[in-house]
Amino acid sequence: MTALWPQSIVIVGGGTAGWLAALILRDAARRAGRPVRITVIESSKIGTIGVGEGSTAVFRQMLRHLGIDELAFLRETGATIKYGIRHRDWRRLGHHYDGPIDDPRLVTRGAPLDGYAVANGLPVAQAHLFQHLIDGKKAPFAQVDGRLVPAGPYHFAYHFDQALAGAFLRKQAQDVTVIDDQVVRVETGEAGITALGLEAGGEVRADLFLDCTGFRRALIGALGATWVGYGDVLPVNRAMPFWLDIPEGEEIDPVTLAWAQKSGWMWKIPTQDRYGCGYVYSDAHLSPDQAQAEIEQALGHPIEPRNDIKINAGRLDRPWIGNCVALGLSSSFLEPLEATSIHGTIVQLLMLSAWLGDPTAGARYNQAVAQQVDDFRDFIRLHYVSERRDTVFWQDVSGSLPAQLQDRLTDWAGRLPQPQDFAPFPLGLPHVQDQLFTPVLDGLGLLPPQSGRAVVGPQSATLAQTHAALVAEYRAGAQRCLPHRGFLQSLRHG
Ligand SMILES: Cc1cc2nc3c(=O)[nH]c(=O)nc-3n(C[C@H](O)[C@H](O)[C@H](O)COP(=O)(O)OP(=O)(O)OC[C@H]3O[C@@H](n4cnc5c(N)ncnc54)[C@H](O)[C@@H]3O)c2cc1C
Repeated sequence: MTALWPQSIVIVGGGTAGWLAALILRDAARRAGRPVRITVIESSKIGTIGVGEGSTAVFRQMLRHLGIDELAFLRETGATIKYGIRHRDWRRLGHHYDGPIDDPRLVTRGAPLDGYAVANGLPVAQAHLFQHLIDGKKAPFAQVDGRLVPAGPYHFAYHFDQALAGAFLRKQAQDVTVIDDQVVRVETGEAGITALGLEAGGEVRADLFLDCTGFRRALIGALGATWVGYGDVLPVNRAMPFWLDIPEGEEIDPVTLAWAQKSGWMWKIPTQDRYGCGYVYSDAHLSPDQAQAEIEQALGHPIEPRNDIKINAGRLDRPWIGNCVALGLSSSFLEPLEATSIHGTIVQLLMLSAWLGDPTAGARYNQAVAQQVDDFRDFIRLHYVSERRDTVFWQDVSGSLPAQLQDRLTDWAGRLPQPQDFAPFPLGLPHVQDQLFTPVLDGLGLLPPQSGRAVVGPQSATLAQTHAALVAEYRAGAQRCLPHRGFLQSLRHG
């Protein structure tokens, strides 16, 4: 275990995880007044995963934390705004619900508005600013006297092209040494890794090594980490990404579309220049050829698959072993629903930054990452609790749930989720809690009116007024905002 702040860090992997690691650790070292040499080893022969286009609000918070101008990010990467996820056909065919990512607790100071909505059969998302920005396809800013004025206090997220976002992050880290080579040998000792051997010859040594080599797990695998699989809980294991054009003049939806299909679901994520799409499915139920045919039928035109990605959902038992920490796809991956991957990496890096140098931190870190990813797993599994039984896939997923999720669903049939239902996450870092569960439970029809009535009680009249006022204010606020596509184009063309 590293007992002191490392003076040299070698990051193997130049995907999103590797560059986020370089930027966040460099920033942490600066803030702590610790001089550190950071080297990124990436292999142009291997390339990056080429998907990963939806973020969470944590990405925006991270840009701010690093002092990176978000408008420059949007302009240079062709990114778009994301307020949440539109879930289509999940509860039943022809039904949809939205999961906005703003946190109403910020403005309602705990008033049980969700309870009021559930008790009265209204969608909880209605009292979210982001629902109205989604409905109006608006940017998160109005223009007043030539200035951009934010629509509200909430952090939104982005959709982006993984390669362009990676290049942007890389550009921010100009003082980091970059080696284009492949690690072909990992030498280990008692403290972890002693040296890495490169294909071109030569060795690299460091105080701390980060394994950001994606699904290859080139470093942490050599230290004996084992994989905790979620295959028994999560039903999809294969992805077929493809792109679609955005028709000229079509407004860009500021929301990820997650469209349930016969044996999985399809994502549709807009960047400024194209839609990134993909079918994530269960290959126990469908071959790749059948998957392509099904999507072409759903869309009504042919597609050109860009890849065939096998997903082994799960996490490492110990992502931090000795002087090596695995991050990104090498540490865990579930499936792309709810964009937990890059979010998880950023949160892990913030934890790592806070705990580096503490000799007892490894065990705490590993426990926190296990909690984080296991909770993501349960949140994602919830999405498949559906009324659908129209295909073998949907019949199969109606089976058993993780015990904790099953218990929670039983509790939440009588009362709404509360912050106290979730174990605190270290350092107060963002984590899936009631504010994310509630819209999904509501959208799936898993919150009966009595679960709302339990929190509303005698305040019903006051809550009715507060709810109506908030919805009206948000609707009017959203109407004042700029059109989404026009706003993005104005950044590019001045
Ligand atoms: C189908 C799919 C959809 C996804 N959608 C989302 C999403 O919407 N939102 C989200 O947050 N996440 C998503 N993800 C996850 C997201 O893609 C990753 O979290 C993110 O891109 C980080 O990947 P990475 O950097 O860990 O790995 P990669 O992008 O695979 O990068 C690996 C790097 O390691 C290098 N490398 C590998 N082996 C060696 C070696 N031996 N020596 C030197 N270099 C080496 C490669 O050159 C490359 O630079 C998705 C993933 C999949 C599979």
